[in-house]
Amino acid sequence: MNANSKPSTSYIRITWLGQGGFFFVSKACRLLVDPYISDCIQRIQGLKRLHPFPLQLNSLRPDTLLVTHDHLDHLDPEGVEEIHLRYPACHFAGPARAHDHFRRLNIAEEMLTEIAPDSQTTFGDITVTAVFAAHSDPSACGYVIEANDQRIYLTGDTLFDERLFSPQTTDVDLLLICINGKLGNMNADEALRCIERLRPRMALPMHYGLFAENTADPAPFIEACRHLGVSSFPMTIGKEFTL
Ligand SMILES: [Zn+2]
Repeated sequence: MNANSKPSTSYIRITWLGQGGFFFVSKACRLLVDPYISDCIQRIQGLKRLHPFPLQLNSLRPDTLLVTHDHLDHLDPEGVEEIHLRYPACHFAGPARAHDHFRRLNIAEEMLTEIAPDSQTTFGDITVTAVFAAHSDPSACGYVIEANDQRIYLTGDTLFDERLFSPQTTDVDLLLICINGKLGNMNADEALRCIERLRPRMALPMHYGLFAENTADPAPFIEACRHLGVSSFPMTIGKEFTL
């Protein structure tokens, strides 16, 4: 280990689950965010998922399942019930409408955390700050996730909006940003306007590739980020990486 290496006891590992879903693993927290686990959207809306949920449910052991908003590709009720059944000690957290949905799934009050706008919540050694998002669920939010001295801004689902830009969301180590350009989300050009304003160290595109009807090619976005001097690459679904 050289002098610049991080201590081996301190880390945040990130796995893209597809769409807007991520699994963050730090020393003291296993945080699932927006996991679409079941195929409930196929049954309800007829949209077939293009890839399976990439991780084994029996090895997840999440401490908290956190969602950005109450849409099925982010709050998957069948997936939530599955996690609740397998991991009764797992907590569930989300903004107002998602919180109400968790309640309707009969999760006990003591296992729930309602995320208020602009609030900060700690899960183990991960701190999560709710930030603005402009989406059709009026309580939708994004999150700035801090662990191991790293700041990650996950936009959640959002349109381009001036209120995305704040001291919280600027100069982050990693920006995870939606690019699909449909159903209330930014397209790649709008996401690039965010990159120019937010100046993250690294920006990775997300929220594509789960449904043929609602996807986008990440390559032009990635190339444009690099042109702006912002590091980027196409995440592989289910493959862990470390900042
Ligand atoms: Zn979505």
